[in-house]
Amino acid sequence: MRKMMELYRGKTKTLYSTDEPDLLVLEFRDDISALDGKRVDQFYRKGLINNKLNYFIMSKLQKAGIPTQIKELYSHNATLVKNLKMVPLEFVLRNRAAGSLVKRLGIKEGTVLCPPVFDLFFKNDGKHDPMVNSSYCKTFGWVSQHHLLCMRKIIFQSNDILNTLFSEIGVILVDFKLEFGIWKDKVVLGDEFSPDSARLWDKKTLNKMDKDLYRQAQVGLIEAYEEVANRLGVKLD
Ligand code: UDP
Repeated sequence: MRKMMELYRGKTKTLYSTDEPDLLVLEFRDDISALDGKRVDQFYRKGLINNKLNYFIMSKLQKAGIPTQIKELYSHNATLVKNLKMVPLEFVLRNRAAGSLVKRLGIKEGTVLCPPVFDLFFKNDGKHDPMVNSSYCKTFGWVSQHHLLCMRKIIFQSNDILNTLFSEIGVILVDFKLEFGIWKDKVVLGDEFSPDSARLWDKKTLNKMDKDLYRQAQVGLIEAYEEVANRLGVKLD
């Protein structure tokens, strides 16, 4: 499979076409960003770590019956993926209060949320990814109600699988974000799962092992991402 033209450059990943129209190369760069892209930095090896971590997690979900976009690892920092028609929404599931939920409701960070809270955001950096609900999706035609329900079901299923996986390695899955696309009229999990898009806390110390280290200008980001990979048994070299 040959990587061809750059199709889309996001804040941390780049998509390339290939000589096969149904397949794309998803490249994870060393970039990191916060404040809707206003703050950008690079961390050596982050692209590699997130690529391998994402591939590992997506493979686990795929084996559990969740359709994902991944085909195969393409290189140390890229994966061959299906060419989905992406839905412009971010699906968030929260097991504990953190981030925007804490800001919005004034709930103490770390409060256990039982049952987990589901949030939906419209992807639009200029408008700071505003929160929306299913009726917006219908009115603005972002996704059909049937597909939306499938996506909601998949994020809850993924939460069960990932809670078990992370609990076994002494990590709390605080919250995470997923994005979906449509492939041959079926819902498929796209984008990524990584410490950039999930909050992961060490169970014993409650230390953060995710992008909050960058958002909150703390040190040890790459070491924390590597620690997550090592605990999961993901080979990085
Ligand atoms: N998230 C993400 N991309 C975004 C917004 C949020 O990956 O554009 C992830 C974030 O890392 C966290 C979860 O979604 O794991 C919930 O984020 P939240 O709504 O608390 O917003 P934030 O604090 O990131 O602004």
